[in-house]
Amino acid sequence: MLLEIEREVDYTRSMIGRSRLDERVMQAMKEVPRHAFVPSAAQDQAYYNGPLPIGHGQTISQPYIVALMTDLLEPRADHRILEVGTGSGYQAAVLSRLVAQVFTLEVIASLSQQARQRFDTLNYTNIRCRVGDGNAGWPEEAPFDGIIVTAAAPTIPQSLLEQLKPGARLVIPIGQPYYHQDLVLVEKADDGAISANSILGVAFVPLVGQTR
Ligand code: SAH
Repeated sequence: MLLEIEREVDYTRSMIGRSRLDERVMQAMKEVPRHAFVPSAAQDQAYYNGPLPIGHGQTISQPYIVALMTDLLEPRADHRILEVGTGSGYQAAVLSRLVAQVFTLEVIASLSQQARQRFDTLNYTNIRCRVGDGNAGWPEEAPFDGIIVTAAAPTIPQSLLEQLKPGARLVIPIGQPYYHQDLVLVEKADDGAISANSILGVAFVPLVGQTR
């Protein structure tokens, strides 16, 4: 799986602006057992570089995309990161190896509960889960050093921009659900100015609910 991520990073280097990902990110991808986040019916594909169904019409993202989005966030050991779209919990688990604390929101209660169980089993103690609409973010814990959205939104939710610290990054797929979206890297400058750059075409399940 790691080799396939490296190959795809190299193949897409002109779009993503790097020919390799941060070593710490690759180490986290190596460390987190993806099979623990994949349903039993798909165990034989757990380390294949593609998305897999996790029930409720949702998917665990492709490992290359998880690695790339993690890298784009530029996570640091003292960071507190918000994820919208817990899903299987895999992306949160990868982030949890790199930062101080991960806060992850999911609308489907049973997915959130399953992810919680996986974190407990693996003893990943720095992840907090909450059931709710990620469009509103997690105001009680804001502001964050980085925000990652793992479902496709039509536009950047305003609440998430507000919950981003100056100097922090937001990585989010923007566009039509399922078919084509742009993976967008949003940066909030120290003076609060927002800039956004499209990195790559991606295909995510939709972010449901009302964009606020
Ligand atoms: N990060 C996940 C993959 C996420 S799939 C992983 O590593 O496995 C997208 C997830 O976003 C789905 O579980 C879906 O239920 C959730 N989702 C969709 N809209 C949401 C919203 N408004 N708030 C929170 N979660 C949402």
